[in-house]
Amino acid sequence: MDFIKGLSRNQLQMVSFDQFVKQNSWARVVDLFVDVLPLNELGFKATPSQEGRPPYHPGDLLKIYLYGYKNHLRSSRKLAHACQVNMEVIWLVKGLKPSARKIAYFRKNNAKAFKKAFRYFVGLLKEMNLVDGKTIAIDSFKIRAQNASKNNFNQKKIDRHIKYIDDKIEAYQQQLEQEDIADNQEEINRKINYQNSKKDNYTRIQKQLNESGQTQISLTDPDARSVILHKNIINVGYCVQAGCDSKHNLFINNDTGTVNDTHALSPMALDAKQLLKVNNINVLTDKGYTTGKHIDISTKNNITTFSSPKAHSSQKNGLFDMQIFKYHKTQDYYTCPANHTLKTNGTVYNKNNHKVKHYKNRLACKTCELRKQCTQNKNGRFIERSIYQEALEDNQKRVESNPQYYKLRQQITEHQFGTLKRQWGFTFTLMKGKNNVLSEVNLMMICYNLRRLMSILSPTDIKNRLKSLLHCFLGQNQLIRHCLNNFYLKLSANSFEKKLKLSPLQVLQLASIY
Ligand code: SF4
Repeated sequence: MDFIKGLSRNQLQMVSFDQFVKQNSWARVVDLFVDVLPLNELGFKATPSQEGRPPYHPGDLLKIYLYGYKNHLRSSRKLAHACQVNMEVIWLVKGLKPSARKIAYFRKNNAKAFKKAFRYFVGLLKEMNLVDGKTIAIDSFKIRAQNASKNNFNQKKIDRHIKYIDDKIEAYQQQLEQEDIADNQEEINRKINYQNSKKDNYTRIQKQLNESGQTQISLTDPDARSVILHKNIINVGYCVQAGCDSKHNLFINNDTGTVNDTHALSPMALDAKQLLKVNNINVLTDKGYTTGKHIDISTKNNITTFSSPKAHSSQKNGLFDMQIFKYHKTQDYYTCPANHTLKTNGTVYNKNNHKVKHYKNRLACKTCELRKQCTQNKNGRFIERSIYQEALEDNQKRVESNPQYYKLRQQITEHQFGTLKRQWGFTFTLMKGKNNVLSEVNLMMICYNLRRLMSILSPTDIKNRLKSLLHCFLGQNQLIRHCLNNFYLKLSANSFEKKLKLSPLQVLQLASIY
C-alpha cells in the first residue's frame, strides 16, 4: 500500500523562520503587542549576566511569557525548552535560547512592570473604544498556592496538635512508670524527646502567629491563605478579584490578598473608576460583596452598586419580622406593630466589626399584649440598625427594580474564569508571595484580553490596529525629534498633547523612546 511520505531528513532546505508561523497565529499578535508597549516607561528591567554578557531584551522575554501563558507553558523550564523546539517561539524571539534561570528571574524581578503593562493595555483598549467603563462586574476565583495544607496553621489547628502531643507524652510517661526493662525505657524516653521537639516546633509557630496579628499563618508562602476552593473543599491558595467591563467582557483590573469577597467591593470599584478615568460607574456584584460600609463608600464616590441583597440576620425565629417595623429617617426612630416608638440613645456600638445603633422601648414592651409574638428578651425588643443601613436598602431597591440589568453580572464576568482555569490551566500558581502571584494573574489577563480582541476584531484587524499604532508612533517620533531639536525643547508633555494632537498614551510611548 502506498502512504504519504515526508521529506528526506538529509535534504538541505532553503527556509526562513517566518514560513513556519501562520499569518493569524498567536505568536504574531504577541510580537506586535509587545513592540507597541513602552517597556522602559512600564519599568521592565533586564537581568544583567554576571559573566559580563549583554542581557536579553525585556521585550523578548515578555514575548516568551505571553506566548507561553496562553499555551499551557508557564514554568520557566517548559518555556526554555519551547525556545529550543517550538518553531513559533523560535520565530518570536529570533532564535534566542535563554536559560530557564534567566526566564524565571525576569518574571520574579518584574512584578510591578507586569501590573503596569496590564493597566497600560486597559488604557489602550479604552482608547480603541473597546472598554467603555459604564458597567463593570466584579467577581473572584480561587487558585491553589505553593503551600501544602499541612503547612498552614490557625490557633485551633495548633491547639489540636499540641493536645495530641500532650496526650501521647502522658501515655508514654504512664508506660514508663509501669516498665521494668531498661531497654524499653530508653526507647520510650527517645519517643518522649521526639514528641517534645514536635511540641517546641508548634509553640514556635504559635508565637509567629501571635506576632503576625493574623488569624492564620502559612509556612512556605507567607501570603497564602486557607480559602474555600469549591463548595466544602478548603485548600491553601489565593482569592483573585477581577473586574470586567460589560462592553466586550474584557478584564480591567485585579487584586488578591483577601480570603473572601467581603471587603473587596469598594477597593476594586474605586480602582476601576480611577483607571478608566470615568466620573460615574455602575458595579454589579454577587451576595458575597454586599457590605454596608463598602456600598456606602462606593455611593459617596459616584459608584452605583447593584450588589445582590442579603436577608436580615434576625429573621427565621418565628417572631415579628424586621420588615414590619417602620423606620422614620428624619427623626431616627422605629414604629413597632403595637404603634410604639423605639428610640436610640445615639451611641454607635461595634458588633463583630459592624457599626450599629440600638433602638428600644423597655417601658412599652413590659406591658405590651403582642410581646410573645415580638420578643423573648426580658428587657423587651431591641433592634440593631447598621449605620450603613440606608445605603444597603438603596442598593436592594436598585437590584429589585432592575432584575434584567443585574442578571448581566454572570454574563459579564464568569465565563472568563472558566477560560483561565479550564482551558489555560490556571488553577494553581507557580509563584510565592502576593506580588509574584499577581504577576501571573496580570500575564494571564493580558493574554485573555489579547485573545478576546482576536475574536472581537479578527486576528487581521487587531494586527492592523497594532501596526497602525506602531506606525503612528514611529511617524510622530520623527516629528518630535525635529521639535525637540528646534522649537519645543522645553515644552512639557502637556504641550505636546496640545500642539501635536497626541493622546496622553502616545506621549507616554514617545517618552519611552527618549
Ligand atoms: S413588644 Fe415592644 S416592640 Fe414589640 S410590639 Fe410590643 S411594644 Fe412593640
